[in-house]
Amino acid sequence: MRAIFIAVGSELLDKDRVDTNSLYVARKLMERGILMNMKMVVGDDLENLTWVIKNACKRAQLVVVTGGLGPTEDDLTREAAANALKKELLFKEEIVEDIRLKFRKRGLKMADINTRQAFVIKGAQVLPNPLGTAPGQYIDEEPCRLLLLPGPPREMKPMFDKVFVEKIAPLSNFFIYKRCFKFGGITESEVDAQIADIYGKYRNVRATILAAPGLIEVHLLGRSKKSVEEAQVETDAVAEKIKTGLADFLITEEDIAFEEFIVKESKRRGLTLCTAESCTGGGIGNRITDVPGSSEVFLGGVVAYSNELKQKILKVEEHTLIKHGAVSRETAREMAAGVRALTGADIAVSVTGIAGPGGSVDGKPVGLVFMHLSAAGVEQGIHKVFPGERKTIKVRTINEVFNLIKNYFKNLDDK
Ligand code: AMP
Ligand code: MG
Repeated sequence: MRAIFIAVGSELLDKDRVDTNSLYVARKLMERGILMNMKMVVGDDLENLTWVIKNACKRAQLVVVTGGLGPTEDDLTREAAANALKKELLFKEEIVEDIRLKFRKRGLKMADINTRQAFVIKGAQVLPNPLGTAPGQYIDEEPCRLLLLPGPPREMKPMFDKVFVEKIAPLSNFFIYKRCFKFGGITESEVDAQIADIYGKYRNVRATILAAPGLIEVHLLGRSKKSVEEAQVETDAVAEKIKTGLADFLITEEDIAFEEFIVKESKRRGLTLCTAESCTGGGIGNRITDVPGSSEVFLGGVVAYSNELKQKILKVEEHTLIKHGAVSRETAREMAAGVRALTGADIAVSVTGIAGPGGSVDGKPVGLVFMHLSAAGVEQGIHKVFPGERKTIKVRTINEVFNLIKNYFKNLDDK
């Protein structure tokens, strides 16, 4: 089944608004194996809109349009869809009554222009909008179904969910099964090189690699015409091979953020954490404290940007700074030791590096970051030269530190 999405609204062609409705709809459709083949953004222009809807209905079995169902002059979706399908628009008194009631409930009087929202394409099913005034419309005419929904995402989503379950999902003849992996300490191309061979062999499993700085996700989507179980068998076969090949880099199969994984695992093991941050400026602590309940494991951190503070609070030796520099393995190690002594946490992590664009000094390039983990009987320091601009280097550093902690947990398990 082919699906086309049309986002309507001149504001979406402007410089600061983007269409997000299509992402929501695409994700939902994908759950039932329906792929969105095309999506478009069209301004509030009757002729353009008519042309786009008309042609979309010729090419797809499902056309979803959002926006342009409001009460104002520039809301033209109803009219354009009627033109495109060569159908009449009928005025429905009961819709006017319904809208009037909604206004009255809020102590307001309905403006006359709202009656525009009571026009319905002949033969369409009216879809109630519990969170707004504009009703949606669904026109089911072989070979194409046309769905019109309001633009505001909070109104569109519940309306789409309902019509999806009742009308659209049953049209799909595919069953879907999903798996998801998160990997750290490895690049996107390395992951691809490892897994391309595997998923290439399975026609019914689609693999998508999503890369964020320092974090790679692999999504597997298996589909079957017969049953979910059949989709699962093939997907699991691919998943197990991927897992074996990349075991050292696997963070989690759960749909949670890296910091959630760190907090969860620390909790499970009854271990506490602390941080000493230079170039990330508190970013590690920030990410950890984004997780509800992190106070159970995160004791706190020191942001020591200046050498003076590194000495004063973290007890980094002056001669270490002079001999090796602030950006060095030795300084990172002393920072971690310092914050562990200060907080009494089980695990301390530290970072010191050059986030750029300036600051590169004798043999130390922009992107060079030293990270260190200190815990009972374990001292582990690593360094990387991260590519990218300042913010990217900071994000990569934070994820690499989480990876350091993840590997520490993994070593505990292996012992
Ligand atoms: P409407 O009156 O139905 O055209 O919708 C207008 C409101 O919904 C505006 O605030 C838009 O920015 C928002 N909106 C419309 N279409 C989209 C879309 N595709 N993605 C996200 N927001 C949208
Ligand atoms: Mg609009």
